[in-house]
Amino acid sequence: MLIDRDSLRYFCFDSLMDAGVVQAIYSRHGGVSKVPFAALNTGGTVGDDPRAVAENRRRIFTSLDRPLSSIFDVWQVHSVNVAIATAPRPVDQPHQQADIILTNKPGVTLFMRFADCVPVFLVDSKRKVIGLVHAGWIGTLNHAVSIGLKAMQDQFGSKPGDILAGIGPSIGVCHYCVGDDVAARVEKAFPEVSTEILVKREDGIHFDLWKANQFELEAGGVRQIEIAGLCTACNITDWYSHRAESGKTGRFGALIALSG
Ligand SMILES: [Zn+2]
Repeated sequence: MLIDRDSLRYFCFDSLMDAGVVQAIYSRHGGVSKVPFAALNTGGTVGDDPRAVAENRRRIFTSLDRPLSSIFDVWQVHSVNVAIATAPRPVDQPHQQADIILTNKPGVTLFMRFADCVPVFLVDSKRKVIGLVHAGWIGTLNHAVSIGLKAMQDQFGSKPGDILAGIGPSIGVCHYCVGDDVAARVEKAFPEVSTEILVKREDGIHFDLWKANQFELEAGGVRQIEIAGLCTACNITDWYSHRAESGKTGRFGALIALSG
């Protein structure tokens, strides 16, 4: 559901409301950044004023009563590297290059930035472990979500049947036309379901990132999956879309934390 609080608007997964977590994916409303980053841009490397980015981040954390000092964020590089957050990231330390972050510490707030790529939330409410995955087309083809699930099992003893998952606002199949090279890679990475996740349209082949990640989660044993169903490229007044705005745009923030 979409929630309006002060001037901010953010999406929360209904299925994670009672899971003992604080979770939100922020729309672009309610920040201080100027066009083309207007308004709640959290991306520090897109050309926006760093003071605006800092103020936006402060507003986001304040809206959910999470201390800014609890942040654990990473340098997202379309990898399948896993970072285990045992403590918040000290401000004077560089970001780790990773696209999967896990923690079991209530004092840590996992944070990532998006503009079309798929945010995936993972919550093991039994063992109190959470994960945040950055799954763009490259991460999806490299099975980032499966690697995140496996790391939850290996590092924290999570059982897939106890894990709840949410697939957040990102580019939908409606707007995600891909070239033959990418389509061929999808076929190779998802041989059993490629006919379901590659859809022929008038303008070419479209890749359904939501379905691909849903398949990945189901294959990994996750039974409860919620898909936000919000296409960023369909809704550029609400969301940043790298593709629909030809790269001149910001990044919206996604955060998740154990509520302690
Ligand atoms: Zn769309």
